[in-house]
Amino acid sequence: MHQHIIIEPFKIKTVEPITMSTEKQRLEWLRKAHYNPFLLTSDQVIIDLLTDSGTSAMSTAQWSAMMSGDESYAGARSWKKLEHVIHDLTGYPHILPTHQGRAAERILYSLLGGKGKVFISNTHFDTTRANIEFSGAKAIDCPIEQALHPSVRHPFKGNMDISRLEKLIREHGAKNVGAVIMTVTNNTGGGQPVSMENMKAVSALCKENKILFVIDACRIAENAYFVNHRETGFEGKSYKEIAQEMFSLADGCVMSAKKDGLVNIGGFLALRDNELSDACTNLLIITEGFTTYGGLAGRDMEAIAVGLEEVFDRDYLRYRIRSTEYLGEKIQEYGIPIMLPIGGHAVYVDAKGLYKHIPVEQYPGQALVCALYRIGGVRCVEVGSVMFGTYDERGTLIPAPMELVRLAIPRRVYTQSHVDYVVEVFQEIAAHARETKGMRITHEPKFLRHFTAHFEPVP
Ligand SMILES: *Cc1c(COP(=O)(O)O)cnc(C)c1O
Repeated sequence: MHQHIIIEPFKIKTVEPITMSTEKQRLEWLRKAHYNPFLLTSDQVIIDLLTDSGTSAMSTAQWSAMMSGDESYAGARSWKKLEHVIHDLTGYPHILPTHQGRAAERILYSLLGGKGKVFISNTHFDTTRANIEFSGAKAIDCPIEQALHPSVRHPFKGNMDISRLEKLIREHGAKNVGAVIMTVTNNTGGGQPVSMENMKAVSALCKENKILFVIDACRIAENAYFVNHRETGFEGKSYKEIAQEMFSLADGCVMSAKKDGLVNIGGFLALRDNELSDACTNLLIITEGFTTYGGLAGRDMEAIAVGLEEVFDRDYLRYRIRSTEYLGEKIQEYGIPIMLPIGGHAVYVDAKGLYKHIPVEQYPGQALVCALYRIGGVRCVEVGSVMFGTYDERGTLIPAPMELVRLAIPRRVYTQSHVDYVVEVFQEIAAHARETKGMRITHEPKFLRHFTAHFEPVP
């Protein structure tokens, strides 16, 4: 049979009820939450696309492995199993478990960082940047030019700009570069992939200049899928083999298992260098826990060990990437402008393009986030001037370069009919785009205002 539809490659054994609601109820809840969906409770949400982090559904194999979790303080069986899986995947000899990705980042970058140091990445994820800057060092983003233009198509929009990287190394001096960090996939822009060719070029440049090369491997399996399908010479390789080849090009990695580990909590740091690993181990024991659990329960390590293998499954990855692409394609059919090409874990809507009548000072992204919730109970996050805007000395808004709204897709959680429902909500959004009103801020904290700011619609 010639098969068109890519079905969810799993059956559902345990179900979590969704609390349904009416538009009238949601309008009231939204008002009480000061038009900020971060302040809603999860029971008030029908489809939650706030993040793909820690929101995965676990498999029967993961749940049953959890029952055999060994909770010993030292030398737990569960640790040995996890260490074996990570070693097999990455090839790195030293593996340090942590409770999530940012703990691995804090340990590594507080040791490598400090005043006078610079870090260069295709794009630093926000916790990566925060940990680097907290150490006193500087974080420089170095993506290819195409990455900055939402409508420009490029198969590997997550790539690093090699000639600019070379220039930056010369400018700052190789000995002042704490590390070069490749984020795969690049979270910014919804998970744009990095090619093996680009990884090789960065790796060679780092070797030549004796600079540490680190992979931020949160979505390494999704990246491997894109390399297999878009880069010549990789069609015949398995997704895991592609990931292993990528790891072989670097000196170590940090990973939040809350993404491609298919678990709700966990992470790790893995390194080649003995000395650096010793220093990191000291910090791990002081702040996270002993080397054989690092802040994780034995059962959590069991779940990660299984998740890191399941994530490379052919049918899973095909369904995963296709379901993200499906949402993007469908809403485009209703004239909703999105970032292209569609990435691995999220669809980014261009709210400025959708609501041309709403000035950036009235936060078109926040207006869309509120409309999606009001119309359909869909929760997502603004990635625009609410998140990244600042003020000049006169208090005038300096807007972000783009006004985006991120629809992040949790792994193995929603079915196609859930996605079709979100598409219907967008149909309604498109039909009423012209009447949608802008928002203004009524209360805001000094830092990370998007989490707790209050808003109201502009009359
Ligand atoms: C989520 C994420 C992190 C941080 O991991 P946490 O588990 O949330 O601490 C770091 N880098 C990237 C690219 C991420 O997506």
